[in-house]
Amino acid sequence: KKEAAASTMSAASVHPDAAMDIPKAKGQRTVIIGGGVSGLTIARYLRQAAPDMQVVLLERNATYQFCPLSNLYMVGGMDLNYFCRSYLDAAKNGGYLYAQSTVYDADLENKMVYTDQGKIGYDWLVIAPGIDYNYTSIGVKDPEEEYILRQNYPAGFMPGSEHISLKHKLENFKGGIWLNTTPAGNYRCLPAPYERTCLVADFMKKHKIKGKVIHLDANPDITIKKKGFHAAFNELYKDYVEYIPNFDFQSVDVAKKTISSSFDTIHFDDAAIYPRVRASKLIEKLGINKPGDLQFEADIDPYTYAVKGHPDVFVTGDSRWMPYSKSANTANSEGHFVAQVIANRAKGKDTPWISPHTICFSMVEYGPVESISVSAQYAYNKKKGAFEFANVQLIEKWSKALGDGTIAWGESILGDISGNQGKA
Ligand SMILES: Cc1cc2nc3c(=O)[nH]c(=O)nc-3n(C[C@H](O)[C@H](O)[C@H](O)COP(=O)(O)OP(=O)(O)OC[C@H]3O[C@@H](n4cnc5c(N)ncnc54)[C@H](O)[C@@H]3O)c2cc1C
Repeated sequence: KKEAAASTMSAASVHPDAAMDIPKAKGQRTVIIGGGVSGLTIARYLRQAAPDMQVVLLERNATYQFCPLSNLYMVGGMDLNYFCRSYLDAAKNGGYLYAQSTVYDADLENKMVYTDQGKIGYDWLVIAPGIDYNYTSIGVKDPEEEYILRQNYPAGFMPGSEHISLKHKLENFKGGIWLNTTPAGNYRCLPAPYERTCLVADFMKKHKIKGKVIHLDANPDITIKKKGFHAAFNELYKDYVEYIPNFDFQSVDVAKKTISSSFDTIHFDDAAIYPRVRASKLIEKLGINKPGDLQFEADIDPYTYAVKGHPDVFVTGDSRWMPYSKSANTANSEGHFVAQVIANRAKGKDTPWISPHTICFSMVEYGPVESISVSAQYAYNKKKGAFEFANVQLIEKWSKALGDGTIAWGESILGDISGNQGKA
């Protein structure tokens, strides 16, 4: 029989030593921190792979928001209802327990997780809290300035209020310079900043808004689907997009609405400013980040996702280090695999490695949506001693067929992680 329930505890914090109000596990228990694509996939598929195991999802938010289609939502091409889902439904459909709670610490030796709703013990732990932003990477070191920047010019790369805020900003944009940025490093969803530039430019074109999008890139060139995005900028949005590579972000002046590199200062009227990403601060707090890693990503075995030295603790999704890309299809496909790894480990068995699969559509126009796409897996190159992309299929000529594929892909991932397919 499926075990499904949701915690209805009040939002008020409880004493840190109080036990969380969760039904007793009859067998082993897996606790999952973070209900993004990664945590949701593992929760659902672990219950299928290990029906006797209790699975508890700890998530701080009350509703789930799917990031991949949010650029379309931003320009008015999609309804908020479509890409927001209920954690209650996902837990009910998947047969696991969802407790709305914020995790602030864990004791990996004594197998205990601490939350604002009390502590909870585990046999297996999955840590999938996604990313945090690193504002010092663009020269913003004062916490007060960081908050002003976050609230006025949100990046729109984390679930929550940011996408709603960006949509309202664009609706109220009277013209001038709209600024988008791409950070350095291994950031969340390589093509998404360029996709946003295409769609914002299309919005300005369709609504006859005077002005342009300036896209500042910390990298020497567009980082993925380069030909497709350059063609879209030049052929579709020649008068609307100015692309500036090699912009080494040094500072932002919110009052003056300027952003500077070591060689230039750009004025903007409105913006979505995307700083470098790092793994969730929880990873660093637990001391499981990869030594020397600038993004504080978890030090996992890429073949099992287990944290080095902790075979019962796994880090998945955008908190883990390369070689895998920080994207939803990757997190979903690896989630299926990790569910199997945990179910098998609970029976003392190993699981042969399967490469995650990265599939990423990027919209370059909307109404109707036209997209380009990439699909890739990963392989270990023994000579180089590193993972690299394998079986890459790149389609850089946009089409409505790929646009339809974008929406169908979103629906299928949302259905897979929540059990409610829904329609775009
Ligand atoms: C604009 C945009 C476009 C994108 N387009 C695509 C695309 O086309 N294709 C694609 O494959 N990917 C795309 N992505 C990337 C994709 O959305 C992410 O890579 C993916 O969602 C990562 O999943 P995750 O579970 O690791 O992290 P998240 O989805 O961020 O989930 C982490 C969860 O953990 C919770 N959490 C964090 N800390 C705590 C805590 N202490 N206690 C409790 N809960 C906590 C958070 O609230 C959150 O719900 C896009 C992203 C954006 C922003």
